[in-house]
Amino acid sequence: MSLLARSSEAFSPTLKEIPKDAEVASHILMLRAGMMRMLASGLYTYLPLGLRVIQKVADIVRDEMNHSGAQEILMPTLQPDTLWKKTGRWDDMGPELMRLTDRNEREFVLGPTHEEIVTALAADGITSYRELPKNLYQIQTKFRDETRPRFGVMRAREFIMKDAYSFDRNEDECDRNYWVMYHAYDRIFKRCGLETRAVSADTGLIGGKYSHEFMALAEAGEAEIAISPGTSFAVNLEICPTVPPTEGKPDPASPACEPVDTPGKATIEEVTKFLSKKSTELAKTILFQGQDKVVAVLVRGDREANPVKVGREMGCLVDLAPADTVTRLTRAAVGYAGPVGLDPGVEIWADYEVMAMPEMVTGANQTDRHFVHVVAGRDFKPSRVLDLRWAVAGDACEADPARSIEIVRGIEVGQVFKLGTKYSTSLNATFQDEDGGQKPMIMGCYGIGVTRTVAAIIEQHHDDKGICWPATVSPYDVHVLSLGAHLAEVVRACDKLAEQLVQAGLDVLYDDREERPGVKFKDADLIGIPVQVSIGQKSLARGVCELTCRETGNRIEVPLDEAVEKILAARQEELKRWNQ
Ligand code: ATP
Ligand code: MG
Repeated sequence: MSLLARSSEAFSPTLKEIPKDAEVASHILMLRAGMMRMLASGLYTYLPLGLRVIQKVADIVRDEMNHSGAQEILMPTLQPDTLWKKTGRWDDMGPELMRLTDRNEREFVLGPTHEEIVTALAADGITSYRELPKNLYQIQTKFRDETRPRFGVMRAREFIMKDAYSFDRNEDECDRNYWVMYHAYDRIFKRCGLETRAVSADTGLIGGKYSHEFMALAEAGEAEIAISPGTSFAVNLEICPTVPPTEGKPDPASPACEPVDTPGKATIEEVTKFLSKKSTELAKTILFQGQDKVVAVLVRGDREANPVKVGREMGCLVDLAPADTVTRLTRAAVGYAGPVGLDPGVEIWADYEVMAMPEMVTGANQTDRHFVHVVAGRDFKPSRVLDLRWAVAGDACEADPARSIEIVRGIEVGQVFKLGTKYSTSLNATFQDEDGGQKPMIMGCYGIGVTRTVAAIIEQHHDDKGICWPATVSPYDVHVLSLGAHLAEVVRACDKLAEQLVQAGLDVLYDDREERPGVKFKDADLIGIPVQVSIGQKSLARGVCELTCRETGNRIEVPLDEAVEKILAARQEELKRWNQ
């Protein structure tokens, strides 16, 4: 049933000032428009306006999931440690996992995602190939103890996620499910009014075979995406491949490698200046610590080593080796590591570009010293040569090396993963196949940040006055403004129009407060409902009302008895725009 909400009764406290600590438009506007209030860092109370938008987004998600063959369930947020220990994520997730202990000293987790729980459910409930495929989803609050909660609901510690999990008999069927979800995501974000790009992504801690992230393009996004304009190439910068250079190789005829004193010069900038070299003539040696080994990664001096690429090769998460490890392995202060004379227990991995350098300057594994005329292959032998650096704008595009990449920013609103059997194997989710054999189920998982999507919509749909909601997710369909709430005849006309709009099936926010018109229009622009309809004493005398389009600011006069029809027509047009 349609709803009439009166501002005089509603709880949607708007703010005139920009709240402190709010840096991005969506965070500022969600607070200013009275959509939510912060309780503590990364924790928010959703007020009626905010909750209504969240529900609209959730409804779209639910609709597309249900029509893609997924079934809604609801799993507990509070989960015993046992399953998490079985899959190893009790340790792997580290401090991001919210843990707590019950009165009997038993350990629990507040779910950050639900692979463990849903796989145990499938292990218990599915026994035969006849019961496959299944796709189960839920819309629920998730907890993650983020290192830096920020940007409001974009990176919160408690947030709403839709998470779906598919179970299949074989790879082909799993692929089919994956693409069904992929296309559902495309439709979901379009219906939410978002412009997104599906980019190839790292599978990270969730693990698995391949993955796409759905990125809402926005300057405020934390993710960087490499694209090749005019093509469909789009990759998360973290894993954007670089192309080996076509020119240059080590020159064994270079003068012999020799040490030079570089007192107190540990950074690339200091060394290049001191030795009058270009940064492209130096190689950086960075020691990365994996689960059970340290690897020395060499990249050209003007490049950055990419820990995601290093970690993918090592098969685990990696971090910079701590200072005491570096000192132990190089027998020098941090900043002087190099490939020549390094502890033989440390493997040397060289980025492609390093092998295109005729010679290079490197650290000497001695404090205050570097080597010059170091030649790869002659003075040190890398055990591997591969792609280890961050891609940068202007790099050749791997898909078409004649083109170069550009970097744009995006907000990750959703992600789809092909998981394979990682969880079904460790949690024993097997089924009996047609041939009688027991096989692990092949899984996929599919997340959407519902609350983050709301923030992303605002990032793409706002102006300097406030939010401009796409009609599909607007908290109300129409905003009625009474410009004379102290005048009985204006009140009567507004009440009547609001009631007619509700009868016509629209959700109406009715600003019936005794405020000046300027205040009301300001608030209406801030809140951002697509259509505003206002009646004042003068317009009433002429039997008209004014319709204002929030997005364009266009205002037209319409006879009162045609208002409902006009508003309905305008709304249909708007809905068509996002639903096609
Ligand atoms: P990120 O890389 O931004 O930390 P993630 O890759 O860890 O996110 P997933 O595990 O893929 O996140 O979770 C699915 C979706 O949940 C994400 O695509 C995102 O929209 C949302 N999400 C994840 N973390 C948060 C958070 N801290 N606050 C709000 N939404 C989040
Ligand atoms: Mg993700």
